[in-house]
Amino acid sequence: MVNKTIIVSNRLPVKIVEENGEYLLSPSEGGLATGLGSVYKKGNNIWIGWPGIEIPLERQQEVTEKLAALNLIPVFLTPDEINLYYEGFSNEVLWPVFHYMVTYAHFEQVYWDSYQKVNGKFKDVVTAHLNEGDTIWIHDYQLLLLSERIRNIQPHVTIGFFQHIPFPSYEMFRLIPWREELINGMFGADLLGFHTFDDVRHFLSAASRISAAKISDNVITYKDRQLVVEAFPMGIDAGKFENLVHDPVVAEHVISLKETMHNCKVILTIDRLDYSKGILQRLQAYELLLETHPEYADRLSLYMIVVPSRDTVAQYKELKDQIDQLVGNINARFRTLNWLPVHYFYRSFPVEFLSALYSTADICLVTPMRDGMNLVSKEYVASRTDNTGVLILSEMAGASKELNDALIVNPNNIGEVMRAIVEGLNMSVEEQRVRMSVMRGIVRKFDIYLWVKNFMDKLEEVKHMQESLL
Ligand code: UDP
Repeated sequence: MVNKTIIVSNRLPVKIVEENGEYLLSPSEGGLATGLGSVYKKGNNIWIGWPGIEIPLERQQEVTEKLAALNLIPVFLTPDEINLYYEGFSNEVLWPVFHYMVTYAHFEQVYWDSYQKVNGKFKDVVTAHLNEGDTIWIHDYQLLLLSERIRNIQPHVTIGFFQHIPFPSYEMFRLIPWREELINGMFGADLLGFHTFDDVRHFLSAASRISAAKISDNVITYKDRQLVVEAFPMGIDAGKFENLVHDPVVAEHVISLKETMHNCKVILTIDRLDYSKGILQRLQAYELLLETHPEYADRLSLYMIVVPSRDTVAQYKELKDQIDQLVGNINARFRTLNWLPVHYFYRSFPVEFLSALYSTADICLVTPMRDGMNLVSKEYVASRTDNTGVLILSEMAGASKELNDALIVNPNNIGEVMRAIVEGLNMSVEEQRVRMSVMRGIVRKFDIYLWVKNFMDKLEEVKHMQESLL
């Protein structure tokens, strides 16, 4: 039997819809799915995860067979599990604490109980497909306990874990009642990857204070086993975004966008609805700009896309209401008969339309309060094939560690963000080109494919290191 690689994540890279009683599957085109496509679509490799919708018991076999044709293996979750493990523990405990928004956290025992149970359910599915010599790559904060659970059953298996959101400072992490169990759960991996060196530092600091593990540099010795912690800044499919610019559908969108933009300079923002994204503060900075620089009236527009997300959760619904209100106020206060200061869309768009926006916007304004990486900033850079355009980027986004040639701002400093917009509006084309070409070089070189390769190579190296120590 040839050794295989098993990818595990909360969600499978597929969208399932039910139409006229039939389940229709469409593969996801997100960056991660594309990058990992080079892994899970090969040979007998597989991807294990939740299919994204509730499937009744009597139809699970049928869906399992359809997914198997795509190398995908489902973990079916009940509505209670989705509610408590996913929306509860993952999104109301780990998400807010890891993004430094601890006042949003609800430390409910039932959430934790379900989180443990569902991590156990994933373990059952993984081990049912696992053979000796296989490699497992687990993704993200919904599955922090999975590595240890699998290792308890298969002590010598190779496990990599990558966390796509920040790892917070110990002072945040320690607030979680189940911090020790979470750290021990992560210790089950051989290689632990994060986006930035700061995340690595924070993890090592929490690990050294919470556990009895021995730590030397980025190597942790725990239960006579050595595991390595390292930064792997995730990239995008840069080639895809470069090529999209020449797509005829994109070109048509660009023409119609330019017509609606009436020679205004365009500032673009694209986020999922989330309190970590700093959407309200960004609107305040724009409002301050219109207040203090009336000369920009008629000459500037903010195109703001907010992608619906988790909007059944009270905090997200409230944020949506606040955004609606602030956009309404700004437009009512500053608009003229022919000019609208904020073009606000609460929906998602196909990638061709995003590409058209990226390639027409003079400024891309990315100001999260906290963000593991932020791919929108990289997609904007990759789309600027003529090297013009200005990226304004929060220092709290992982991407700011690589994209040093952006205008880097503190998103809490409304005045600084406003001044960066003014600087961007007045930046010479020569300076734009110098900055953008450096950033494009980085985004193009460190793309999603290199990220996958670097992680997998390192995982193999760690395993060899462990074997040589035996
Ligand atoms: N995106 C999308 N449709 C949209 C708007 C955005 O698919 O209408 C994508 C965007 O291209 C990017 C991702 O959503 O790849 C957002 O990733 P990011 O890291 O910026 O933030 P996240 O939502 O993961 O926190």
